[in-house]
Amino acid sequence: MNTEPIADGASPGPRVARTIRDVRRAVAEARADGKTIGLVPTMGALHEGHRQLIVEASRSADLVVVSIFVNPTQFGPTEDFSRYPRTLESDLATCGRGGAALVFVPDVSEVYPDDRAATFVEVPGISDVLEGASRPGHFRGVATVVLKLFNMVGPDLAFFGAKDFQQQAVIRRMARDLDLPVDIRVVPTVRDADGLALSSRNRYLSAEERQSGLVLSRALREARGSVDAGETDAGRVRQILRDAIESERGATLDYAEVVDVETLTPIRAIEAGRGAVALVAARVGPARLIDNALLSP
Ligand code: AMP
Repeated sequence: MNTEPIADGASPGPRVARTIRDVRRAVAEARADGKTIGLVPTMGALHEGHRQLIVEASRSADLVVVSIFVNPTQFGPTEDFSRYPRTLESDLATCGRGGAALVFVPDVSEVYPDDRAATFVEVPGISDVLEGASRPGHFRGVATVVLKLFNMVGPDLAFFGAKDFQQQAVIRRMARDLDLPVDIRVVPTVRDADGLALSSRNRYLSAEERQSGLVLSRALREARGSVDAGETDAGRVRQILRDAIESERGATLDYAEVVDVETLTPIRAIEAGRGAVALVAARVGPARLIDNALLSP
């Protein structure tokens, strides 16, 4: 099998597969040994949030496969595909530290050998609001590549971050609608001590912009505080989010919404027994940042 070990001193580190054939062969060997397979799809530039997904996967699956693929079809024409950070050597070390034994790093030509592919996965409705409204076609690209990765790797379990709330909702919906034999697990958002949600895009921020970026988690804390203090009017909670973000000169609000956790449709009241989530997006300097918080009365 053509999987390359990486050397990092004492431990052998994860193996790297670059082709669908090699990743399938490695997974088939593990299956033949009775192992369960966990997949952590990523675009690389790994940070502690990704590492937590890998650690969580290691707790639940015998073989953890991390995929590292900057997926061109989920980027809009003016987005950061070409300058998205690519840090493979340190990513492989992070995968090893998290407990992944196999890292799948396909080229674009391996995933999309025919650049006129005719088949795509669409999850309408839930994909068209919030991030989907700001980034047309984004979730079609995400759903398509995630289904392709599932078909390439064949995992029993797959791990996604709550940080990308709408993404995990789209993927759970796709898995349910298409009867995918994959158990989708969602891992809580990992934050820096000051509250900023970790993101590969945070590295685009200057120190000053990073300070401005803190307004997202601050706004969400205020919103949750109001619900904890008895606020049930979702419109007022939305206003708290908007006021907080609009008061930050370094941030430009994209959206601030309070929606149902499953359908992502706006809700009027925050009630016990109905999951509600606050989602925010803002442009800060060169980066577009997103964050969210569950609101439970
Ligand atoms: P990405 O490489 O940005 O596509 O992210 C790969 C996976 O890591 C996705 O499931 C993300 O939701 C998840 N992720 C990214 N940032 C965080 C974070 N701060 N906490 C938890 N999961 C995260």
